[in-house]
Amino acid sequence: MIPSILPTYNRAPLTFVKGEGAWLIEADGRRFLDLGAGIAVNALGHAHPALVAALTEQAGALWHVSNLYKIPQQQALADKLVEESFADTVFFTNSGTESAELAIKMARKYWSEKGDPDRVEIITFEGSFHGRSTGAIAAAGSEKMTKGFGPLMPGFTHLPWGDHDALRAAVTDRTAAILIEPVQGEGGIRPLPDQCLKGLRDLCDETGALLILDEVQCGVGRTGRLFAHEWAGVDPDIMMVAKGIGGGFPLGAVLATEEAATGMGAGTHGSTYGGNPLACAVGLKMMEIVSDPAFLAEVNRKSALLRQGLEGLVASHPDVFEAGRGSGFMLGLKCKMTNTDVLQAAYAREVIVVPAADNVLRLLPPLNLTDDEIAEALARLDGAATDVENAA
Ligand SMILES: *Cc1c(COP(=O)(O)O)cnc(C)c1O
Repeated sequence: MIPSILPTYNRAPLTFVKGEGAWLIEADGRRFLDLGAGIAVNALGHAHPALVAALTEQAGALWHVSNLYKIPQQQALADKLVEESFADTVFFTNSGTESAELAIKMARKYWSEKGDPDRVEIITFEGSFHGRSTGAIAAAGSEKMTKGFGPLMPGFTHLPWGDHDALRAAVTDRTAAILIEPVQGEGGIRPLPDQCLKGLRDLCDETGALLILDEVQCGVGRTGRLFAHEWAGVDPDIMMVAKGIGGGFPLGAVLATEEAATGMGAGTHGSTYGGNPLACAVGLKMMEIVSDPAFLAEVNRKSALLRQGLEGLVASHPDVFEAGRGSGFMLGLKCKMTNTDVLQAAYAREVIVVPAADNVLRLLPPLNLTDDEIAEALARLDGAATDVENAA
């Protein structure tokens, strides 16, 4: 008999009933150190007092009002995002997938508006993940996500990761945009080298193609800069965000330059919930905290500590781990043993990590993880690695 929850997830037998900062409390009372943060969502940990206050204050005043009216919280968050980024304009969504849908629509509309309506092709990359809508699975293109779901939305060209010649050859006068994650998340924490992101920007400038960055997982302070592309010193034309920007409340956004947003006038797009007062009140507080340079400096200092500790783990458990990789608090442990076996051992040691493709375990902890919690995390992971060694 089918379960009452559609069985699309393989769930661990863990039921968390409360969160406190970087800690998740299981129904049986065990305290798990959360290095997954809801897959880079709870970027300030659980029940952060400033976020709770922003949410509950707004909840007492007004939950929802249609986008047919002005929403001051949405305006304030849009102004903040514009001030802190390359963007001139913002559309709010409820998820990364919805942000992907708008990014794709916007790129096509741009060329249509420029009198080139056949310029619809979007180049994407193997190992990427942009969400689960029909458009987003067509964009990423992996068979795991597309198989059985019928004809895919046409217009995507999938290229191997890191093949510069293939990329140059693929860009034509029908290329509307190039869509890429600056650090692949689901694909196994694969950072795009700064040089490559610069090269992509140059290629787009040469050919006119728009550069769309998917910063749904790597954005909002995750890599130690407010947005990951800042490390390369180049700006996209369109950027998708979600996950961390809501700190646990469903919120996403598409940021764009005025030029890229050409054509997205009244009636061209919409969302019932996107940019609602609750989400935007939380998102604004989140942005105020995370965009502070002192906060980001701490993310860099502490993530370097964690990274250093992970390198130590790789050195002391060569049969379990192959290498550490990643950027800021978006870190991966490439495993030698099956990553899900190491994951089970981590659960047994009461530490949460997240599996990814390429036999990687991801560490995406809250950005405000403390030095003591980093030491504790490394001790628990060391214990888990020792356990799998002994079991092998
Ligand atoms: C999670 C994710 C998405 C999809 O976001 P949802 O909120 O699950 O729809 C898109 N792109 C990237 C890079 C992601 O990590």
